Amino acid sequence: MKKISYGMHSISPADIESVINTLKSDFLTQGPAVAKFEEKFAKYVGSKYAVAVTNGTAALHLAVLALGLKPGKKVITSPISFVASSNSVLYVGGEIDFADIDSASGLIDINSLEERIKSGGPDSYSGIIAVDFAGNPVNLEKLRIVAKKYNLWIIEDACHSPGGFFTTSDSRRSLCGSCEFNDISIFSFHPVKHIATGEGGMLTTNSEELYEKLLVLRTHGITREKGKFLNSSEDIEMGPWYYEMQSLGYNYRMPDILASLGTSQLERADKNIERRHEIAKLYDEGFKNSEIVPLVKFNEGHAYHLYVIQSEKRTKIYNVLVENEIFPQIHYIPIHLQPYYKGLGFSEGDFPNAENYYKKALSLPMFPTLEDQDIQRIIEIVIGV
Ligand SMILES: *Cc1c(COP(=O)(O)O)cnc(C)c1O
Repeated sequence: MKKISYGMHSISPADIESVINTLKSDFLTQGPAVAKFEEKFAKYVGSKYAVAVTNGTAALHLAVLALGLKPGKKVITSPISFVASSNSVLYVGGEIDFADIDSASGLIDINSLEERIKSGGPDSYSGIIAVDFAGNPVNLEKLRIVAKKYNLWIIEDACHSPGGFFTTSDSRRSLCGSCEFNDISIFSFHPVKHIATGEGGMLTTNSEELYEKLLVLRTHGITREKGKFLNSSEDIEMGPWYYEMQSLGYNYRMPDILASLGTSQLERADKNIERRHEIAKLYDEGFKNSEIVPLVKFNEGHAYHLYVIQSEKRTKIYNVLVENEIFPQIHYIPIHLQPYYKGLGFSEGDFPNAENYYKKALSLPMFPTLEDQDIQRIIEIVIGV
């Protein structure tokens, strides 16, 4: 029997050729393929700037570093996300908090978020990490209103949503990653995500100041720009070789080999979203008269990284699918219930909507090369449980 996983990348002959060309070029890293990928990606999501990094987690880390945490202030995010969303705050010695989700969408509930921020007392938060869970974009225009009120920055964790959008109050499409209403957006190019580079990540922003900070942080905190040097040539010889490390950065550079794969993959991104939409509609149709409930109604702006259903029988469905060599997944175990986070003071009952969601959640296979007959088979098995 054919094995089917919940997510799967695809590599085209053009992808292979693109990587081979880089392998034959003078630059395996720090060459022109990275800038090219960044330029194309920024165009795709509609941002001014893009900075490629080694993975989505590194992108989150740099985003939090660049935006900064005010001492003693917390960052708030959703408990229904991958642990990297909240870990990034802990990397820089910050304090993390969560707000409960809206059961109807699986996204952070903006009202609970504001309640939580209010109850923390004045000035107790630095920022918000908004997660476009499953590919369903957070309405950042609405979130922005809360963020402004409490003077908070917003990072959009758009790992699930490249190509997605929400509709603004004046009926426009606001693309995920465009940073129209937020400071920095971040993406991952892990093979289960929309665009695969093996490991890889990207940050987008419209702020020149943040962009320059990110470039420096990505490469050890080192600058080679003469105009920016802090030392003077009276203190130290500053020849053409000279560089300065001015902040504590990291080596989070994406190699050219991966960037050239990313650029080639990006060519198919729109077509792949269309296919993801087709698959979502097939599932929706298949479950219409059953007790299986899709987490959300179909919407054009949903990038469908995941197709999530809710069912009281989800564990049984999970087991029967696995018996049939179909491997669904559960996204996510609420972060606040992870032992590490319990050690930080969180406990069961803190975010009841997230905990109830988790008990019923199941992500069915969703990737562009999934065939119609596979989808029908999955629907039949799921309904038959
Ligand atoms: C995949 C993912 C990440 C981390 O990305 P990596 O490239 O695996 O480091 C962060 N947040 C979310 C929501 C993700 O899905």
